[in-house]
Amino acid sequence: MRQHLAVLVAAVALLAAAWLLPDVRRGLIRTATTQNAAPGEPVELPIAEGAGLPKADRTRVVLVDGLTAEAADTMDTWKILCANGVTLNIDVGFPTVSLPVEIALWTGLTQQQTGVVANRAFDSPIEGIPSRVPGSVAIAEKYGYIVRALGFASAQPAAEPGKPMADANESAWETQWFTLALEAVRSPSPLVFVHILRVDVAGHKVGLGDGYTKAVRDVDPMLDKLFQADPSARWFLLSDHGHIAGGGHGGDERHVRHVQGCLHGPGLKKQRSGLIHIVDVARMIADSVGVALDRESRARPFEAAMATRLAEDQALPPVSIALGAFAILILVAGLIGVVWGLRRWWLFPIWFLAGCGLLVAVRGLPTWSTPFIYRPEGRDMWTLWAAVLPLATAATWFGLQKTTLLRVIAAQLALPIAAAAAAITAAGAWPTLFGADVAPVVPHFTAWVSPLLLLLAHGAGAVGLAVLASAVHRAFGRPSAAEPPRTEPAAE
Ligand SMILES: [Zn+2]
Repeated sequence: MRQHLAVLVAAVALLAAAWLLPDVRRGLIRTATTQNAAPGEPVELPIAEGAGLPKADRTRVVLVDGLTAEAADTMDTWKILCANGVTLNIDVGFPTVSLPVEIALWTGLTQQQTGVVANRAFDSPIEGIPSRVPGSVAIAEKYGYIVRALGFASAQPAAEPGKPMADANESAWETQWFTLALEAVRSPSPLVFVHILRVDVAGHKVGLGDGYTKAVRDVDPMLDKLFQADPSARWFLLSDHGHIAGGGHGGDERHVRHVQGCLHGPGLKKQRSGLIHIVDVARMIADSVGVALDRESRARPFEAAMATRLAEDQALPPVSIALGAFAILILVAGLIGVVWGLRRWWLFPIWFLAGCGLLVAVRGLPTWSTPFIYRPEGRDMWTLWAAVLPLATAATWFGLQKTTLLRVIAAQLALPIAAAAAAITAAGAWPTLFGADVAPVVPHFTAWVSPLLLLLAHGAGAVGLAVLASAVHRAFGRPSAAEPPRTEPAAE
């Protein structure tokens, strides 16, 4: 009787996990894409001596959102301004999300220092370069919540009342914004920022295909008009991140993190930088407008940044060694669990490895850039692995006839549980899982939490169904040779 009860309890627990874990995953993704992280330490940058840029009367910054370095190389105006000034090779740090990167650009503090890792509306704008420059102006093509967060004396478009993420009068703004941008550039304002969005919008919609190329081509003459509106100013042409081939950004991929920039204006020697950090560009802008960056900024002065080069991945925040070691321990414990439960070779969690393999083979490695990890219902993922889930049900059903319930569950689920727990640990996501409003956004591991939790949920469901069937079979079926052993043979 107690045996029957244990099987029933296990079935209910597994099915409850299958029911609840997708919600846990959704909650985690929601927090990671809308909340701030706990502020921490920035990465170390190469130390060098050198002078900063001299102050300029007027500084003009144009940022083409989502422009890859390769696409920048196809733009005539961009190339001419770069070739007659300074070509910058910039690492925007991690995550490669627009608002966090642009806050790094305008504060000189990395995403890890500010804790801003997601796109969100701010109740009050940040303290940064723009708030220290009287008369600073920002004009955005759309998604004005970004420029509204940056602390410019004037930032447009305005928000829709009561909806801080939305722009007021969107369709009217679409027809006006570029004229207003040209007016701002022509004005005597010491600092003007123009944020162009159409390239990023195209990237999200179609990836790096024809639509993206067309948007890039459309922006080039806009750059020319902007530049011609004040050719004697100091110009920065920038991007905040690239895109993966299928469209998407946020992750630590080098071609998403490494973008091109140009610095153009009187008195600048023609040259190219090695890989520099986005906070170094913040320092260039700060010196151009004659204000100081936050004391915590690690940005280097212009000559120092030009004289050194970051290693390719130097701007990536490292995963905590303690958390990494703990994650490995959890994985090892999971493997021990599998070995303990593995009374027959076919009890190995083949469905789990096949599910992960299918995901990576068809959709690619999960990263913070890949759209499939964000979608709430996870359809891009489960449609791939649905076909292998019956393996878990079958292995469990037959396994229960050969060995104990605990061993079967360990063999089937210890590895998926350990893999999900290890990813959550390495991402520092446990507090979030228990309701903290802290975004656990780290390279590699945060992205893996999404598929691992969903695959675990589905695996628990598949195993739970077999356990439930076995419980029903025991309760109502005739007692037969198929009855699993009540205790294990002593030799095992
Ligand atoms: Zn962006």
